[in-house]
Amino acid sequence: MCRFVQFTVCERKPTADLMNTLVRYLIFIVIAVPAVFAQEAQQPDPCGFPDTTSMEFKLAALGNWGYGYDTLKYDLSQWKMSPFAVVDSVGATVQNRAMYVITIQDTSADPLNKRQRVWMHARTHPGEVQGTWVVNEMIKMLLSNTELAKTLRQRYVFNIMPMYNPDGVEIGNARENANMIDIESNWNNVSPQKEVLVLRSQFQKYTSKPNPMKIMLNIHSAYDCTRYFVYHMPAGTTPTFAALERRFIDDVRMNFPNAIKPYNYFVSWTSVPATQYPESWCWSNFKDKIMALTYEDGNCASAEKFDSTANAILKGIDLFLQDTTAVTSVSLASNLPERYLLEQNYPNPFNPTTTIAYELPNAGIVSLKVYDVLGREAAILAEGEQSSGRHTAQFNGASFSSGIYFYQLRFGGRIETKSMQFIK
Ligand SMILES: [Zn+2]
Repeated sequence: MCRFVQFTVCERKPTADLMNTLVRYLIFIVIAVPAVFAQEAQQPDPCGFPDTTSMEFKLAALGNWGYGYDTLKYDLSQWKMSPFAVVDSVGATVQNRAMYVITIQDTSADPLNKRQRVWMHARTHPGEVQGTWVVNEMIKMLLSNTELAKTLRQRYVFNIMPMYNPDGVEIGNARENANMIDIESNWNNVSPQKEVLVLRSQFQKYTSKPNPMKIMLNIHSAYDCTRYFVYHMPAGTTPTFAALERRFIDDVRMNFPNAIKPYNYFVSWTSVPATQYPESWCWSNFKDKIMALTYEDGNCASAEKFDSTANAILKGIDLFLQDTTAVTSVSLASNLPERYLLEQNYPNPFNPTTTIAYELPNAGIVSLKVYDVLGREAAILAEGEQSSGRHTAQFNGASFSSGIYFYQLRFGGRIETKSMQFIK
């Protein structure tokens, strides 16, 4: 098992001399490999083990497997220009690198703050770069202007940590952090690694109100070209939780038929929970309140269709949580605001002017701004004290290029954003 690592995508490689390569490689062989085998004795590992003897491996590691920390920081700088995205550093690694979380949501959809929270993290094991491609596709989809993206942003809060182990990525470790510890399976340690503590505190924060975490996805990539979830047996969890797991996995699978394996492809916790994993920590603290699962994407040269996988996971999350909502008789309708402050612009699409109407329940400070698709401010339509009641503002696009624009109303701690289309 565990034979492959993908080398196909290398955006750029940092300069490094041969000695550097050799040192990294020797460190990996001497320290990391025995550690890997020690852990494997406890539980079969669902992840992909690279062939560390190949020149390809050494080159791929030097190039951060095609996606390094600087690339992440660049992508985050682009993503956070969206009015729906916020990027935070939530802690630091052993080598003091910031650990970033991108939060994606449409806060205007839910003034009562009752949406459900979805957590995802990837790149625990640096060599499993396919997890990065899947997560990046999800982020791009969530920030896009599709109906699915709008719905998801209104229904959920997404917290995504695209790179949980940036030290390992930069050092060139296939699996470990800077202390040569596998932070996927260090969660039951008496003194866990810094990265583990950061993630734990995020989980703790996100499971309290408002917006309690309902789904925790731990994204990796497996041996071979196989996509699957790691299913926990009823004997290691409960029959109720196992049934929910099966339903979640089916909800994702039905959106990417024949591509993701059935629930029983990789079975774990056959008797009792293995205590070392992030899922274990969620299980022991929150039981079936959180659907905590590992997803393994394919780890092979022909692993592709990251966008199809991303689409399936996002749709599966929505299906699952909407069903769960129905089952627990918490109506989604009650989560939605009774009245929107901000109306859809008219006409839409427009050329070159359009009218935006909004209603204020009381007098106060208001701001209405227009942003382009990259999140750059294009116009300020209203700013300052206004009376209660209905107001209108006009936007003239004559000096702008055609495309999608967002308009955002801020009033009394509420933020509402809508999109409009300018066609010249
Ligand atoms: Zn892994």
